[in-house]
Amino acid sequence: MIEIKNVSKWYGTFQVLNDCTTNVKKGEVVVVCGPSGSGKSTLIKTVNGLEPFQKGDITVDGTSVGSPKTNLSKLRSRVGMVFQNFELFPHLSIRENLTIAQVKVLGRNKEEAVAHGMKYLERVGLKAQADKFPGQLSGGQQQRVAIARALSMDPICMLFDEPTSALDPEMVNEVLDVMVELAHEGMTMMCVTHEMGFARKVANRVIFMDQGAIVEDCEKEEFFGNISARSERARQFLSKIL
Ligand code: ATP
Ligand code: MG
Repeated sequence: MIEIKNVSKWYGTFQVLNDCTTNVKKGEVVVVCGPSGSGKSTLIKTVNGLEPFQKGDITVDGTSVGSPKTNLSKLRSRVGMVFQNFELFPHLSIRENLTIAQVKVLGRNKEEAVAHGMKYLERVGLKAQADKFPGQLSGGQQQRVAIARALSMDPICMLFDEPTSALDPEMVNEVLDVMVELAHEGMTMMCVTHEMGFARKVANRVIFMDQGAIVEDCEKEEFFGNISARSERARQFLSKIL
């Protein structure tokens, strides 16, 4: 579903991605972890064309992200993305947040979009909040709305960039629960997160990045089952978060 092949990226002379190669198959959940500044956000943003790259190739469901022929806004409409800071439209109600892209990007009529959006809002347990504005919801609720908004576009895969790291601890689980459910339903997911409980529960693979490179990419059982076989850098990192 997501094929990342020998991708490198530079900011001026600083190499932020160094020959990254990995694949995420349909229905797979891949967790990306690693120290701050290692390139996790950059890598995940290259997948839907939010960050350009200078070398290598990425295809999503057969569409090449780097090709000048690719319609990036069409591709993005099929790849759901959830960020650390929710990024809801503050001046729009939750209902409007859920429907605007369906109408403007997918061309759905308003009623159809509302019905679809409400279905996902109900799924994340927030149907009663439809008329509120983002600022009236807790961080955990806003992030669940952001997930519902992404899902209402019927994405073929979902990208998450530290979706729980801006949340108060007591709200982390309500968001992770939604993500676990999605994973169990077979959604293809690439998740930057340091929530190793989530990784243990649903990840198929764990990727560890350091200094722009993918230094570990292995099955979950292998990753957690034999920490002593991991790279020095990964062990150091894991010893701080496990
Ligand atoms: P964190 O865990 O803190 O979110 P990350 O692994 O997501 O870190 P990135 O945000 O991908 O890391 O950043 C990777 C490196 O690229 C960092 O060293 C960062 O300073 C640098 N970087 C990011 N954006 C830019 C930019 N626009 N210009 C120059 N350097 C950048
Ligand atoms: Mg980041």
